[in-house]
Amino acid sequence: MIPVAFDYERASTIDDAIAKLGGGGKAIAGGHSLVPLMKLRLSEPGKLVDISRIPGLSGIKESGGRIEIGATTTHADIAASQLLRDKCPMLAEAAAEIGDPQVRNRGTLGGSIAHADPAADLPAVVLALDADIQLKGKNGARTVKASAFFRGFYDVDLMPGELIVSVQFSPVRSAAYAKLHQRASHYAIVGAAASLDVKGGVIQSARIGLTGATTHAMRLTSVEKALAGKKADGVEAAVAAAASEVADLNGDLHASAEYRKAMIPVFVRRAVEKALTRA
Ligand SMILES: Cc1cc2nc3c(=O)[nH]c(=O)nc-3n(C[C@H](O)[C@H](O)[C@H](O)COP(=O)(O)OP(=O)(O)OC[C@H]3O[C@@H](n4cnc5c(N)ncnc54)[C@H](O)[C@@H]3O)c2cc1C
Repeated sequence: MIPVAFDYERASTIDDAIAKLGGGGKAIAGGHSLVPLMKLRLSEPGKLVDISRIPGLSGIKESGGRIEIGATTTHADIAASQLLRDKCPMLAEAAAEIGDPQVRNRGTLGGSIAHADPAADLPAVVLALDADIQLKGKNGARTVKASAFFRGFYDVDLMPGELIVSVQFSPVRSAAYAKLHQRASHYAIVGAAASLDVKGGVIQSARIGLTGATTHAMRLTSVEKALAGKKADGVEAAVAAAASEVADLNGDLHASAEYRKAMIPVFVRRAVEKALTRA
């Protein structure tokens, strides 16, 4: 199908984008989620504001022990980042498993978390990293914790005209992502991100992000509590009830709710076990 007619403007700075977004404009970054929606006429913005070439809105940097990734950084750049491969391999590996090369070369971190597809990979990863999402709009800048950002089905804490500027987090080496993917698109049927604090082979604390299973990515806080104090041989039992924390499991043509329920503990365990090998 062909989208309804729309205006197109390219923003040169973040403030220019915010000004251009006023009056009902919609940001476009990689276009890999928005354009399909427009072609299906599920989204009909009157104006697209292209943020993909704003200097300073993309890039990966480290400062004061924190990593900051600009919103328009592509999945391919995240996957290829030596800084992330060394200090936070979970994120680089998860990005490398998104879609195909074309999707990874266009799709962006900001677009992925703003769109918040229930089967997207990076929401689970930013949850497990306990990331801060930096936002800017006409009323100024604010920071939202990833745990508060993903609210529901394609619903995030983002006001009209507000932009994601960057994602910041403390890198974790003992972290890993494991997903059961759709064969065609590579979206997650079930995806689990595990970030661990481990001392002497014992898990001190854990953060687990889950995607693909329900309306939106979520933390598995009961599993996190159950993992504390466990060694590798206690992981399977600690994650066994992981699915019980998930209300309204998705069921669709790719997998039934029952199948997802069975796969959640499997992929949470795989992520935790891989994270433990990095501790
Ligand atoms: C064939 C195919 C396979 C895919 N496979 C996967 C997969 O395996 N795993 C996965 O996770 N994803 C997958 N995707 C989705 C892909 O990762 C998208 O690129 C991503 O979800 C959206 O990023 P984008 O930059 O293209 O956003 P766009 O399509 O440009 O925008 C999406 C939405 O986010 C908003 N937005 C974009 N940037 C910002 C910002 N900085 N601030 C505020 N709002 C913003 C837009 O207004 C729009 O509402 C796939 C997509 C396709 C087409």
